[in-house]
Formats: sequence, structure tokens, C-alpha cells
Amino acid sequence: MARIVMKFGGTSVADIDKIRNVALHVKREVEAGHQVAVVVSAMAGKTSELVGWAREASSMHDAREYDSIVSSGEQVTAGLLAIILQSLGVDARSWLGWQIQIKTDNAHGAARITEIDGEQLIERFNIGQVAVIAGFQGVGPDNRIATLGRGGSDTSAVAVAAAINADRCDIYTDVDGVYTTDPRIEPKATLLSQVSFEEMLEMASLGAKVLQVRSVEMAMVNNVRLFVRSSFEEPGAVDQNNFNGTLICSEDEILEKQVVTGIAYTRDEAQISLRRVSDKPGVAAAVFGPLAEANVNVDMIVQNVSEDGSVTDMTFTVPDGDLEKALAVLEQAKREIGFEVLQSDPGMVKVSVIGVGMGSHAGVAATAFKSLSEHGVNIRAITTSEIKISILIDAAYAELAVRALHSVYGLDKE
Ligand code: ADP
Ligand code: ASP
Ligand code: MG
Repeated sequence: MARIVMKFGGTSVADIDKIRNVALHVKREVEAGHQVAVVVSAMAGKTSELVGWAREASSMHDAREYDSIVSSGEQVTAGLLAIILQSLGVDARSWLGWQIQIKTDNAHGAARITEIDGEQLIERFNIGQVAVIAGFQGVGPDNRIATLGRGGSDTSAVAVAAAINADRCDIYTDVDGVYTTDPRIEPKATLLSQVSFEEMLEMASLGAKVLQVRSVEMAMVNNVRLFVRSSFEEPGAVDQNNFNGTLICSEDEILEKQVVTGIAYTRDEAQISLRRVSDKPGVAAAVFGPLAEANVNVDMIVQNVSEDGSVTDMTFTVPDGDLEKALAVLEQAKREIGFEVLQSDPGMVKVSVIGVGMGSHAGVAATAFKSLSEHGVNIRAITTSEIKISILIDAAYAELAVRALHSVYGLDKE
């Protein structure tokens, strides 16, 4: 007997038929003798619809009320799945975040889970009951519903798995697992059988939305083994010891280590360049201090070495949605910073090459630059770390660049 968490995303619960299919996956595990907690998302598109309603009601809405609105999608799915399980003869009940309780901090709209008491769930397992938990939500210190940021049901699932000391956490989604790049962009993407927590963390933060970044962080810290797999496979037919899918685990469990594991990309980046900024101590602080105060998330930062020590150029990226705010903040701080020209370009894409082996192999970055130049893709900015290279390019070249890099590192499916 094992204790498992099964998480189903939006497309997997998109309608009643799909929820019935999910119920069959759950029934299979119950019949195999396992203790099961299920975490569900809202039906596909529901959360975006709810977000749209909140914005339509007022663009300056109260974040606590936003959370009470957008968390409702998961409540519906949890109830529906519990009913369908009951109709299949499986003892089940739904749980909302405040009932368990999934405690969070006060950051409404992007709250972090601080504590979960798994005792109640474990008591129910002991009487043979399945827990169907609404993902994406918890309760804040102000005793109000708090949501965990888009894609947050992944994090709910991992947090529950850690709290009940689950043997594993299965993330069921609309693809077979984690691929070398988004299979929707590159049909030649290859399914990865294992990915280390570190690489998955990079892939998720650099745009592979198959897992929410925080869910990977939490799995890594608590050593929760994650299986990403498809909810569209036959619920009963597959050999459960030998299914397709991806295991996310610690690096020492990985059998085959690659130099490059995958390619990720994020859209909607904006580039800001400050031209002829004085080259003296305190300038970077004068630029990024006010931006941080205005809650603008700055990502890639590139500063030139100045030719004569007097002025230099500074380029960085912010999310498209924050561009206007960022420009206003910089204009206001112009005297303090001392730049001559402020330039900006919205609609950029950041393409990243990820692999834990890259730190110990020469020439990985050069291969990327050569391949992009052969495809006529102009590079605007570059940043690197031990396990990734990120390149900023014009949005029009996004798919071309992803495919070119995927192919040049030998990741294409045979
Ligand atoms: P869910 O609703 O189940 O949470 P998401 O839409 O959040 O599903 O995540 C699954 C999607 O992530 C896939 O449909 C796929 O397009 C996208 N994706 C992006 N990068 C990758 C990748 N490297 N491997 C697999 N899927 C990816
Ligand atoms: N329903 C939420 C969203 O769409 C959470 C999730 O699906 O993970 O962002
Ligand atoms: Mg998701």
C-alpha cells in the first residue's frame, strides 16, 4: 500500500465526461489498495474567465475579493469529482483550502503556503475515504481565502504530498510528461524519462509552464518525487509500474546525464535600454531601487564596460505588462540616474538552453550563437548561469529559434 497524491489540471477536468475519466484513474489507485488524495484545478478556461470578470468589475480591485472570486472554479471541480467518485462506489469528500487547513501568507493573488496539517486527511484515509482537494487556494492569516498564483494547483499538490508524507505525487496533465521543449511549438520534442529538480526548476522559471515554479521548489526542498503524466491515457489499461511519463527527482537518481536537457521560452518580455548613463558607483542602485519599490520585476540585466570610464549603456528586461510603469518610474528618477536616452521595445521573447552538464562542457554557448546566426536570428541580450543560457530575441523569431536550438543540441525525436 502506498499513499499518493494525484493532481489533475484544467484540461483534464474540462467537462463532466473528462471528470468521469479522472474518477476512473482515481478508482484504479483506490482498488490497488492505495490511500489517495486528489488535487483538482478549475475546468479549462474557468480561472481566466473569473479573472476577466474581476478586472471588468474594477481594474483597481481588492486583492482579497479577487481571491474569493477566482478560487471558486476549483470548488466546483472538487465537488463534481467527489459526486462522480461516490456514484462509482468510491467513498470520497471534497475539501476546500480553509477546511484542511492550507495556511498561506498574506500575499493575496500570489500567496505562499506556510503550513498544512495533514492529520485530518490521514484520519479519513484510515477509514478508506478519498480526499478531493480544491487546488490553487488556501487561507491567509487574515482568515480570508488566498490564491497561489496562476498554475498554483501544482503547488497545492506538492504541499499536500509533503504534509501527508506521500510516497509520490502524480501530476496528470494534457501531455505525456516533460519534453525537451514545449511539444506544441516543436512536434519533434522528445519525452524525457527523468529530469533533476534543479533542471526542472530552471525550465519552469524560464517558461515551461508544465509545472508551476513554486511546486518544483517545494518538491526539491521536501524531496517529493513527482511524476508528470497524461490524464488522457486509458485509466485502467496501462501497467502502473511502467507508464510513459517523467520522473522529477534528485540529480543522483538520474541515470543518463545530458549536457543540454531542454529549451524553454517566455513571451511578453520588454527590453529597456538606458543610453549614456554615467559610469559611477550607485547608478545601478538608482535604476533598480525605484523599480523594485514600484514592484517591477526586472529580469535580464546587461551593462557594458565603458570605453573611457565616463558613460556606459545599460539594458534590462521587464514583463510587457509592467513596461509603462517602468518607463514612468525611470523618467521620474532621470536626474538621480543621469541617462541621456531611454529606449524601449515591447514584445520580445527570451529563449533559454538548460542543462546541468553545461558547466563542465566548453562551447555550449558558442553552438547556440552560431546556430541562431545561421538562421538569421539577431541576438539582443544574453545572460548565463552554470546551467542555462538565456537569449533575448524579437518575438517574430521565437519558434524558429526554439526549433533551431532544439535541433542543434541533438534533441529532435528520431
Ligand atoms: P494543466 O492544466 O494540466 O496544469 P498546463 O497547461 O499548465 O496544464 O501545462 C501543460 C502544458 O505545458 C502543455 O500542454 C504544454 O503545451 C506546456 N509545456 C511547455 N513546455 C513544456 C515542456 N517542456 N514539456 C511539456 N509540456 C510543456
Ligand atoms: N486554475 C488555476 C489557474 O488556471 C490553477 C491551476 O490550474 O493550476 O491558474
Ligand atoms: Mg498548470
